[in-house]
Amino acid sequence: MLQKSRCLRNLIPSSSFGSLRKISAFYASGAASSVQEALEPSPYSGSDDENGDIDWDNLGFGIKQTDYMYVTKSTCDGVFEQGQISRFGNIELNPSAGVLNYGQGLFEGTKAFRREDGRLFLFRPDQNAIRMQFGADRMCMHSPSVDQFVDAVKQTALANRRWIPPPGKGSLYIRPLLIGSGPILGLAPAPEYTFLVFASPVGNYFKEGLSSLNLYIEEEFHRATRGGAGGVKSISNYSPVLKALTRAKSRGFSDVIFLDSVYKKNLEEATSCNVFVVKGNLISTPPTNGNILPGVTRKTVIDIARDHGYQVEERTVPVEELLDGDEVFCTGTAVGVLPVGSISYKGKRVEYKAGSQLVSRDLYSTLIGLQSGAIEDKKGWLLEVE
Ligand SMILES: *Cc1c(COP(=O)(O)O)cnc(C)c1O
Repeated sequence: MLQKSRCLRNLIPSSSFGSLRKISAFYASGAASSVQEALEPSPYSGSDDENGDIDWDNLGFGIKQTDYMYVTKSTCDGVFEQGQISRFGNIELNPSAGVLNYGQGLFEGTKAFRREDGRLFLFRPDQNAIRMQFGADRMCMHSPSVDQFVDAVKQTALANRRWIPPPGKGSLYIRPLLIGSGPILGLAPAPEYTFLVFASPVGNYFKEGLSSLNLYIEEEFHRATRGGAGGVKSISNYSPVLKALTRAKSRGFSDVIFLDSVYKKNLEEATSCNVFVVKGNLISTPPTNGNILPGVTRKTVIDIARDHGYQVEERTVPVEELLDGDEVFCTGTAVGVLPVGSISYKGKRVEYKAGSQLVSRDLYSTLIGLQSGAIEDKKGWLLEVE
């Protein structure tokens, strides 16, 4: 009882939640350069790199069970204990856990890559850590520190290193999860949080692979609303899009594009990736105004595009401009940078140019070049796992 009341006092966001403005500024500046130095060595010595029973040439984006996961829980005052790598397996939850009843949960997605020389790298995991903190603030959850998050991702990659595909065949998709695991009945933030990280080797997200996507502009359903939680990777944002997604897939489309819910005419994003439109030398994408998910790939591609001499604008993109573009592409950790082949809207289908001369190809090859080590990483985006 004593224990309980001590926990309840701490439910109200306190200093441990951090200031939203501070986190925003941190996120925007892409800081966290000290993450690398602050990492502690992983206690896990690593498993062997050999694995006979996987067909590296036909990896899709399905879940493949790997060997280990990382788990840690928060104490009542919101501090996360030192986590541990354990065998991958089911977890136990109280039926009244906040996540099961009120959807208090956040996920992240990042990848580990294997290079030709065998070295293993993560791509900007600090950005995922910061985004989880931002999301936790929005959803009234306690979150692990940036260093704790990055260390957990590193440990999970290392422990499952035999599942990291050979270069060019795919990557190890790493899925950090933060859930309200403490019991609650009346609506309130959960008294305890569990941070866990698991992984699965993946190839292409869409069955289209590296060809192009056929998208459908959704007019009935919306993904996000003004003042809602569309800008954070809350698990509660994803089931509501399944209706539109499965309907579009059953009609042969790859994914849907959502429009804003107020004017119903401005581009937002697809179910799990950001959308860009190219017209001449200008590349446009909607701003991160709370309705779209601030993708790490989105931010990276904007940087690469500016370095390549394109003009990039983050601004409202009316659907007419999208349909009138020379080229449209999607970005995300899972999808990479994928060209859009067609968009269907109000019974009409607009086709976009294809081929090797695409702006999206140019940007993607730079991104892949950085990840594979073929292009020198001058921005400190890559973190070696060793
Ligand atoms: C995760 C996600 C993205 C892409 O973000 P990345 O950090 O680039 O992987 C875009 N949109 C939505 C809705 C997402 O959930």
